[in-house]
Amino acid sequence: MASAFCFADELGPFKLIHIWRQSVGLKAIVAIDNIACGPAIGGVRMAPDVSAEEAFRLARAMTLKNAAAGLPHGGGKSVIFGDPKMPRAQKERLIRAFAGAIADLINYIPGPDMGTDELAMGWIKDENGRSVGLPREVGGIPLDEIGATGFGLVAAIEVTAAQIGMPLAGARVVIQGFGSVGKHAARLLDEKGARLVGASDTRGTIVDDNGLDVAALIALKERERPLHDHPGGKKLDQDGIIDIPCDIWIPAARPDVINAGNVARLSTRLVAQGANIPCTAEAEAALAHRGVMVLPDFIANAGGVICAAIEYQGGTESAAFATIDEKIRDNTRAVLQAVQQTGVLPRAAALALAKRRIERAMRTRRWEHAI
Ligand code: NAD
Repeated sequence: MASAFCFADELGPFKLIHIWRQSVGLKAIVAIDNIACGPAIGGVRMAPDVSAEEAFRLARAMTLKNAAAGLPHGGGKSVIFGDPKMPRAQKERLIRAFAGAIADLINYIPGPDMGTDELAMGWIKDENGRSVGLPREVGGIPLDEIGATGFGLVAAIEVTAAQIGMPLAGARVVIQGFGSVGKHAARLLDEKGARLVGASDTRGTIVDDNGLDVAALIALKERERPLHDHPGGKKLDQDGIIDIPCDIWIPAARPDVINAGNVARLSTRLVAQGANIPCTAEAEAALAHRGVMVLPDFIANAGGVICAAIEYQGGTESAAFATIDEKIRDNTRAVLQAVQQTGVLPRAAALALAKRRIERAMRTRRWEHAI
């Protein structure tokens, strides 16, 4: 087996723990990357094909996202090997066993991720007293239901649009992925007078240059129906979403959807990254070269984790919205200013901002300071 120290660098990982409980078939990995800013917050992902590398990379992304958002939290992530669609009793046993196994990892606060939900976070809290993304009844703020990430994304878009001289009223918007992030972004941009001209889900793309009926599309998704069931608009395949000319293109689905092979097809002024790592590094560089502004994921989509941090502090839903608004607007302004002053790519500016905060926090810690 390759040594886990292959991931080690100046930031972490602080701990990488493998968990095996034969009696319940629990196989899990917890990566606590960096805790200089505070206890790590990061999701619990359940999937059959996860790995230590995935846990570490996701934990590092959380270190940067939490620091960039100015939260008193470091980054962590855990993965549980298993099919999330397993029978509920089996899943509850596994998650409860996982919660017991991490009870002494007091520097890690689990949250929901792919394959886990607020009920699972309730089981974890019940076992070890520590999780975020809880059901409302036990002090949670349902971040997907209220659209915390979409709300923050639209705040970042508003700041950027003002900076690049693009009025939101009448701006043409295209959204890939019409789930928790995509549909709330669509709703809020619609309220600001923007026009949704294209949207997609796993079944395909719907396009209408005169503007799609956002409320009708959301109602469709709430009935778990595909966007193609909407009577209006032209229907394209899933990939067609990339070719729709627009002012704001929002990836809100999978990683690496814009890459060297398709970046030339994108015709837009602003890419606002709702999804995590939706563009490859080459694609981001190509977009910058063409004068397209790209708002990096860990600045623009931090609304969810900010909401989780407020929940952890016992704050309210309205405090969560106010904090998301303030932090994301401030960070977006800081990144845009650095881009303007130094000519670096927005991602490099965002990374520098996050790392500055982590390094400052590390200086306060006895064993964390590099020098
Ligand atoms: P979700 O499961 O609620 O929605 C995803 C949507 O994308 C679904 O409508 C699905 O049909 C669609 N989709 C999947 N693959 C697609 C494809 N190839 N083309 C078009 N549509 C596709 O998920 P979500 O919570 O909205 O998360 C979306 C993305 O945003 C993910 O990358 C997630 O990691 C990221 N993100 C989410 C949050 C959050 O608070 N939910 C926070 C930060 C980042």
